[in-house]
Parts: sequence; structure tokens; C-alpha cells
Amino acid sequence: MKKIPMLINGEWVHGAALVDVRNPSTGEVIAQISNASKAQVDEAVRAARVAFESDDWRQWKAYERGQLLIELAHYIRMHAEEWSLLECRDVGKPLSQARADIEAAARYFEFYGGAADKVMGDTIPIEDGLLNAVVLEPVGITVHIVPWNYPIQITARSVAAAIATGNAVIVKSAEDTPLTTHAIAEWLADKLPKGIFQHITGLGRDVGPYLTSHPDINHITFTGSVPTGIAVMKAAAENIIPVTLELGGKSPNIVFADANIEQALEGVMRAIIQNAGQTCSAGARLIIEETVKDSFVSQLVEKFQALQVGPGEADLDMGPLLNERQFTKITGLLQQAKADGYVITGGEPLLIEGYDKGYYIQPTILDGVDSKDPLAQEEIFGPVLTVLTFSSVEEAIALANSTDYGLVAGVWSQNIDTAHFVASRVQAGQVFINNYGAAGGIQMPFGGYKKSGIGREKGFVALRNYTQMKNIAIRYAPPNQR
Ligand code: NAD
Repeated sequence: MKKIPMLINGEWVHGAALVDVRNPSTGEVIAQISNASKAQVDEAVRAARVAFESDDWRQWKAYERGQLLIELAHYIRMHAEEWSLLECRDVGKPLSQARADIEAAARYFEFYGGAADKVMGDTIPIEDGLLNAVVLEPVGITVHIVPWNYPIQITARSVAAAIATGNAVIVKSAEDTPLTTHAIAEWLADKLPKGIFQHITGLGRDVGPYLTSHPDINHITFTGSVPTGIAVMKAAAENIIPVTLELGGKSPNIVFADANIEQALEGVMRAIIQNAGQTCSAGARLIIEETVKDSFVSQLVEKFQALQVGPGEADLDMGPLLNERQFTKITGLLQQAKADGYVITGGEPLLIEGYDKGYYIQPTILDGVDSKDPLAQEEIFGPVLTVLTFSSVEEAIALANSTDYGLVAGVWSQNIDTAHFVASRVQAGQVFINNYGAAGGIQMPFGGYKKSGIGREKGFVALRNYTQMKNIAIRYAPPNQR
């Protein structure tokens, strides 16, 4: 069994306790990780501090940091197929979705590599004889806590920005999906001063608090669920350090009668089945105009019923859920939804021949659910779409905004007034008009309104998460006044 080591202070190390990593498509154990001890986390933070303050790291020029990240992007592309298989086996997602994730990771390293020497300060006019400079410095030790659903993408998006800006990075991968973060660690290990990039593994409930409550870290980027986000923010509050929180969602797709129905049907379906609905920005609610509801939903049911579900490597429309915990939670919810009469298609576990230990369920649509019901309010994190109906623009907006979340929204209408008006009123960090996802858009700021998070990742704006501002005022005198 492959034991995945951690990278701490330039050394490959294991912990005392091991945790199994399974392939969700087969249920088989494919690797084991260490559950890091407190002493190991302390050692990583100590090593990061030494590395961050070393002359060695200070002397790396911004463009050299950028060049390294761009080299990593090239390396990832050269090994794209191998890394796609790793991600596919680790997360269970269809191979083509894993390939898209690997390419997105390469794009993050390339984008932030290119940006490394373009992070600039400013000068402020005050008076003759006084030069005032705004300087952007790295924040120091940045901790990156990654969820299991898009491991390589989410590792890449914040790590690339943090290294580009000169920080020392500690990544904690999710216990279920450490493989591609480890692959990144293997490549970076001997190319950066030891301690600048470190990879810690282990159970979040054990290892997470060792890291987040450590008094010598300077920033936390956490991507995960709201309850864990609250715990992370509380830990950060004790040490007054900033957090970037990318949390969950219950994102709406609002479809008006005047939409291009073909496009909307495809967009709404893809938005909820991608990665088996285990996507923070999944389009989990369809908010449909009453006049077209029956025909739209019946066409959607047909499309859902035609979807093929199977192991990631078979590269069908949808793979399995991640693990037994997710499977038990979601099948339990669906049993109750079925008893309540809400399930109009799907709702059952699926047995795939030859893969009876995989965690497969049918893509599911729920109708008739009250907008205040937990099924319309809470993140299910599976391929489950809840249908809600509106009869006025105002009602559509109110329904879209009726959850605690505000990550993403889709608006489908060919009326420019309607589409823009709704986009201006929807509480979400990203709004897509007549598309959903804009092909991932690593250049586009991404983050949540309300409980979907704090701060933004992706794009140039995310570089600010990993810098702090210093203002320097320099008095100078003309020759006759010295
Ligand atoms: P999670 O909150 O259970 O875990 C996320 C990470 O936090 C894992 O690495 C886990 O080990 C770690 N962790 C667990 N307990 C911790 C603690 N007490 N302190 C510190 N770290 C701890 O989330 P998950 O189940 O891995 O991921 C699913 C959630 O992530 C969903 O809610 C999803 O919407 C969200 N998500 C958000 C985004 C985004 O960008 N907004 C992207 C992907 C996933």
C-alpha cells in the first residue's frame, strides 16, 4: 500500500497514525496518509518561519518566483494524463472532468506565475520634500486548507497566488483526496528553499485546529463547509489574523419563459451533475417561471434519465459520491424526500455491475418542496436539484436570495432588461447570464456573499490576500536646507 509522506522542512515524513484513502468508484483503499501530530505541525510552522525570514528566500526576485510557477504549469501539462488519472481515482470524478481540473491547475500556476512581478504598490502625493510610498509585502506564513471535491484546483489557486507574492506556504490537503497535492509537493520539494512549501496531511478535526490556532501563522485560506469555516474563523480571531473563506452554496439557476430553452436545459443539468453535485457552486435550485415550468421540467426529467453514471475512469456523465459518509447522508435525505412525494426522477442508490462498493446514486429532481424546507435551503452536496416556481421577476429574485448562501447564480433570459436587472439584485459573488460557470474562469474574482464566505479568490484581486500594505514616508531636503 502506497504511504503518502508529508513534506515538512524539506523532509519526507510519516506520522504515527495512518488514514486510508479510497477510490470512490471502487471503494478500494488506494493509499494511506499520516495523521500529523501537533509536534509535526509545530515543526512545519517553525520551519516556515525560518524559511520566510531567511536571506535565501528574500533574495528570490519576484520574476524568479513567477518563472518557477510557470515551470510547474508546464510540468503539469506534460504529465496531464497521469495526473488526471490520479485525480479521477482520488475523487471519483469522470476522467474528462479530472482532465479539466488538471488544466485549470496549470492555468493557476501560469496566471499567478505571470503576475508575480506585477504586484505593485503606489505613491501618494503629499508635499514637496516628502515621498510617500505604499509597499506590498508578503504576509508571512500562509495556511491553505483544501476540501476534497476539487483538490488540485483549490490547492493551486491559493498556493500559486501565495508563492507568487513571496510567502511561506503550508497546505493541509483533505483526508480523502491528498494525491495531487502530494504530486505538487514532489515537484516543488527541491526547487524552493526548504520550508517555503510544506504539505501536511491528516484528519481535519485533529490536524486542522493544530494549524489554525497556531500563534505564529499569518493568514488562513480555508475552503470547505460553513461549520468548519466558523471554527477556522474563531481560531484566527484568537490570534487576530486574516482569513479568506470559500464556503458552500445553494446556488440558483433562474430560468425565464423567454430563455433559449435548449441552452437553459443543458446549463441547468450540467450545473448540478458536474462532479456528482459535489461542487460549491453547483446549481442546486432551479427557479423556473410558472408558464414554462411543466414543459421545462418534463424535458429536464428526460435528460436526467438519459444520463450515464459509472466509475470515473469510464468517463460517463457522472461518477460516484465521494465516500460512505456522503452516500449515507444523501440516500437518507432522498428516502425521506421520496416518502414526502417530492422525487420526480431519481432518488435511489445505483448498483453498477463490477463496482458494487462504489458510492453511486441516481441524478435526482425534487419538485413541490416549500422554499423554506431544508431541501431548498441547505447544501446537499450531491446530484439533487430542487425546483421552485415564480410568477414575477420580484418573486424570482426573492426566491434566489432566500437562503443563507450567496456564491453563484445563473440567469437565463433573452431579454436584456430582465437579465441585467436580476443580475443587479441577486446576492451572489458571481452571476452568469445565459451560461453557468464561464468555463471555470480562473481570471474572474470568485467568492461568496452572506455565509458563502469572506474575500475573493481567483483573478488579480486574490493576490491582495497574500500581501500586506506598508506605508513609508521619506523626508528629503534640497541642498541648502541639509
Ligand atoms: P470540510 O469543511 O469538512 O473540510 C474542508 C477541509 O477542512 C478539509 O481539509 C478538512 O480536513 C479540514 N477540516 C475539517 N475540520 C477542520 C477544523 N476543525 N479545523 C480546520 N480544518 C478542518 O468540507 P469538505 O466536506 O471537505 O468540503 C465540502 C464543502 O466545501 C462544501 O460545503 C463545499 O461547498 C465547500 N467548498 C467550497 C468551495 C468554494 O470555493 N467556495 C470550493 C469547494 C468546496
